[in-house]
Amino acid sequence: MSAVGSSSSMGNVKVETESEIPSSSRRFPVDSENPFESSFNGSDVVLVVEGKKLYVDKKTLSLHSPVFEAMFDGHFREKDAEEIEIKDTKYNAMVRFLRQMYPVKSFQIDDEFLADILPLADFYQVDHFRSKCEDYIGQQIQRPVTITAASKMFLLLMCDRFSLKHLNALLVLTSKLSIRQIKTNHFEPLQSNTKVNLLERRCMCAEEESAAKDKQMNNARTAFTKDFVWANICACKNCAAKLDKKPGLCRDCVTKFLDEHLLCV
Ligand SMILES: [Zn+2]
Repeated sequence: MSAVGSSSSMGNVKVETESEIPSSSRRFPVDSENPFESSFNGSDVVLVVEGKKLYVDKKTLSLHSPVFEAMFDGHFREKDAEEIEIKDTKYNAMVRFLRQMYPVKSFQIDDEFLADILPLADFYQVDHFRSKCEDYIGQQIQRPVTITAASKMFLLLMCDRFSLKHLNALLVLTSKLSIRQIKTNHFEPLQSNTKVNLLERRCMCAEEESAAKDKQMNNARTAFTKDFVWANICACKNCAAKLDKKPGLCRDCVTKFLDEHLLCV
């Protein structure tokens, strides 16, 4: 026996429910910067981060992350807990991370976003967030002039730490930086082989730069010598006054010569 409380139809879609659709329940706030501040229709668990509560639902988190799935369905103590404390995580980073799992209106990807999202995506094994970050890094690499040296080093560190693609492209970019720009706080945490790789490339770049400078110097020297020799050849053989075209005697010396030797004949 089925009691139909209400029904609604729209086009070909016909929905029948056993009770009234609750009109007063709180929809998930897609426009909010922090949609998790209070409970919404469907939220069934609270994450406590830095002492502050975040209302979420187990199904959505489990859909994205095998770690959350195990936390809610497995043998963890958290299974039936209504509040779960998340340690060693920044509240704002967690909000940004969670927003990626829900239908939010907009979000901006920048270096700070990567710093927040990548460690959490790594820990909670949400692999498809990585490709979002990789796309962003790819776009940054396309316009190397507009990104700062510090940003290049930061992106290199992210690729190195989380095994993202673009590691090689960033090694090429950062090997053109000065040693002072390379030795920032993003350099020390790099893996040893990446450090060696970067410094080797830096040395090769320095060699190439030095060879290019030598060539430039040689070209300049040759040009200078040519000018100097030409300037000296193009002088009057008698008085050394500068001549415009070919070597010989200047106009004054020719006139003098003619005066002295020809006109008195
Ligand atoms: Zn002369």
